[in-house]
Amino acid sequence: MNEHDSEKLASALRDEGYVPASGAREADVVLLNTCAIREKASEKVFSELGRLRELKKRKPHLVLGVCGCVAQQEGARIHERAPFVDLVIGPRATGTIPPALARIREALPGESPRVVDLEYRDDSIRFPYDRIRREGAGAGKAYVTVVEGCNHRCTFCVVPHTRGREVCRDLREVIAEVRSLAGRGFREVEFLGQTVNAYRDAEGRDLADLLAGAAAVDGIDRIRFTTSHPAQMSERLMDAMAAFAPKVCPYLHLPVQSGSSEVLRAMKRGYDRDGYLRRIEGLRRRIPGISLGTDVIVGFPSETDGDFEQTITLLEEVEFDSVYSFTYSERPGTAASSLEDRLPEAAKLERLGRLHEIQNRIQLRRGAAWIGRVVEVLVEGPAKLARTEWSGRTPENRIVNFAGASAPNRLEKVRIRARSAHSLRGEIANLPA
Ligand code: SAH
Repeated sequence: MNEHDSEKLASALRDEGYVPASGAREADVVLLNTCAIREKASEKVFSELGRLRELKKRKPHLVLGVCGCVAQQEGARIHERAPFVDLVIGPRATGTIPPALARIREALPGESPRVVDLEYRDDSIRFPYDRIRREGAGAGKAYVTVVEGCNHRCTFCVVPHTRGREVCRDLREVIAEVRSLAGRGFREVEFLGQTVNAYRDAEGRDLADLLAGAAAVDGIDRIRFTTSHPAQMSERLMDAMAAFAPKVCPYLHLPVQSGSSEVLRAMKRGYDRDGYLRRIEGLRRRIPGISLGTDVIVGFPSETDGDFEQTITLLEEVEFDSVYSFTYSERPGTAASSLEDRLPEAAKLERLGRLHEIQNRIQLRRGAAWIGRVVEVLVEGPAKLARTEWSGRTPENRIVNFAGASAPNRLEKVRIRARSAHSLRGEIANLPA
């Protein structure tokens, strides 16, 4: 989501005549698009600003802006820690950036017109899609925002505050975007929303309708959507995933956060352990072989040893293909920040380490099942480590690195020869015609 927001930001600036610089040193304008989800991400912004301050000393005309969720959360307080910042713009106010930049650059020497805009505007979602230059998602794949903001009130989470309340795009406009992408050669779209399955347009059309509409677009081979909230994972949506397979990919990211019903209640997630497991069962019944991913928070304030064990047993029971796990981080202004956070950081890290170890084993075992099979890979580009190899993803969203002649945005049949916990490796399969 942040990558796509950055693409849109960069596109808006290019429309004003700006061109990308090779780095901060060459730039006249530096905008940091920021994440506030955990304290670490937030703090990274201030250390980056520290480096940029040195640059601005040598280049006083340099315009510096902080955008995204840290801007929204800190607002004008950013100037207390970093008075040299010119722009502070929240995620729903990005339309202000081009005119604000013009004003700052036209200011007389000595003047320093600061701009702070933290409005939650509904028109942020109506960014003209044909102007987006897509660079973030890998060749052949495009992100498509369908809903912005979040109406949940999870007690640990800062997002409802930083991104505001939900606003959805009209279904016809989204489908028009998908058609335009297909016309430009994109094979894969990923619908984005903080709670993507909350999507419902003014005429009551939901994500199931959106999947149906996108599946009918010629040239689009793969459709994904992220992130889904378990409480809104309806039977109707699961039915649509099955009905429009294989265009709708057999993959779902469904953040569970905890395996303990007690902790889930304290988090105000709106489902319990059994409710989550029922949804997993519903998905696997409809889409055998579906690949599942999740997010887990370890060390939420009330989490006991017993609660943590419940998370471990849930991971063992479900056997996810990928898990993003984090130690709980207290966020200013959230309901959980008033709870006493009794767990020392070291205890949280110990739990996290144990979770990693168990999940790693699960992933190695699940990866081994792919060895010898031939999979379809949408090629994204050269592999990160072995630059002579190619890298892409299967419909199940597994990363595959492979040897053989190929090119970005091609669909290749690859025979899997090896696996690690996080990727598969193989070579182009020369199948008999
Ligand atoms: N909207 C999605 C989550 C988006 S944030 C959902 O509700 O499931 C991505 C992930 O960051 C979350 O799933 C959660 O695991 C993690 N996260 C959010 N707030 C956090 C916090 N205060 N401390 C630690 N991890 C957090």
